[in-house]
Amino acid sequence: MRRWMPPLFAVLMLSIVCAAVPGAAAEAPAASAGARDYLAEAAAAFTPENRSYSDTRVFLMLAGPLYGILAGLLLMFTGLSARFRDIAHGLGHRLYVRVLVYFTLYSTTLFVLSLPLAWFEEFALEHQYGLSNQTLLGWAGDSVKSLVFSIFAVGVVPLLALAWARVQASPRGWWRWIALGTLPVTLAAVVLQPVVFDPMFNKFTPLRDAELRGQIISLAARAGIPGRNVYEVDMSSKTKKINAYVSGFGASQRIVLWDTALRSLKRDEILFVMGHEMGHYVLHHIWKYVALVSLGAFAGFWLCARIAEWWLAAFGPRWGVTSVSDLAAMPVLLLSLTMVTLLAMPGLNWVSCLIEHESDIYALELTHDNDAGARAFLQLAKDNRSNPEPAEWVRILLYDHPPLGDRIRFALEYRPWEKGEPNRFYHPRPANLAAR
Ligand SMILES: [Zn+2]
Repeated sequence: MRRWMPPLFAVLMLSIVCAAVPGAAAEAPAASAGARDYLAEAAAAFTPENRSYSDTRVFLMLAGPLYGILAGLLLMFTGLSARFRDIAHGLGHRLYVRVLVYFTLYSTTLFVLSLPLAWFEEFALEHQYGLSNQTLLGWAGDSVKSLVFSIFAVGVVPLLALAWARVQASPRGWWRWIALGTLPVTLAAVVLQPVVFDPMFNKFTPLRDAELRGQIISLAARAGIPGRNVYEVDMSSKTKKINAYVSGFGASQRIVLWDTALRSLKRDEILFVMGHEMGHYVLHHIWKYVALVSLGAFAGFWLCARIAEWWLAAFGPRWGVTSVSDLAAMPVLLLSLTMVTLLAMPGLNWVSCLIEHESDIYALELTHDNDAGARAFLQLAKDNRSNPEPAEWVRILLYDHPPLGDRIRFALEYRPWEKGEPNRFYHPRPANLAAR
């Protein structure tokens, strides 16, 4: 659904969600006689049908942004963008009104142009492989809600108008100001995501299973964090996939479990997944990622400005749009930003995989439950039809979590405590030692 957001907003939302369970590469330990061979099970579960689903997803992850770039160019070459600008200028003199009118026309057109691909990706494909429970009406409702939110959410248009004022005031140096604004805007978005955006699409409730809640609270106490912010979300009305994640910042930060995961995973597997999510919490992964994106924004928006200038120099006269300060240049700026995001993807994914691996280590050091970890990853591979051993180029380009085969291998072999070696990330406080 996030695809509906204009690319700028999508970039700002990048760091908001750190999705579930991660791992890393190591030599496969031989399964001991009689024990389950989780890697063989994962390989067997990845049937030709699952491979075809997974390959289609890889194709879509690349095709989606490219389609967005082409749609932006279509708006420019057909003169639609210039027409939207004329309508916006005709309706008001104030920049705020012009930006609101232009952005509404632009977003709605892009929404319509993207509809076939979105329908295939979010609805048809998921139903074809039996992964979705959502009705067509429910999907359409979510899509429209997402479009309306991306335009009318408090702050979006004022921020865009502010950004546009900077672009107009400084047609060559605007990128510095936008980059500078990335940190506060991203922070605000991260804080508000779990309390404003997420509840629009799903129902969140504090974890209901009292016994499980008690186990999670005692695990959280050992991790030295408040265990009260654990929520379940009713994803089972939409999907059969499983997931868990940490979102929010400061007081809004929480650990969320999809109810599908609560049903599919065994108790010890859920606790391992919780250990992983607690790792994100304790190791401050969200704010570290926000800081990284905010610093990277300076390079990103500089490159975006150069790419946009190139487009305008090459085609501007034909489009009737020769300056970035022209409202009609917005698609050019946003498609340039999509190109930058595509270029940055391997780097961002590399950092994300490092972070996810750290959390896997944390979960293993906290729980010492290697078997539950390996089983959780196996179940994740099965339920989500994931490729446990993707091709290297696919992993580098698209994977923001280590492949599940790597994570199973690592979960089985990482046991420094058996060799008397120190932990890397989980450091129990003396008062907590007795509780182990
Ligand atoms: Zn994670």
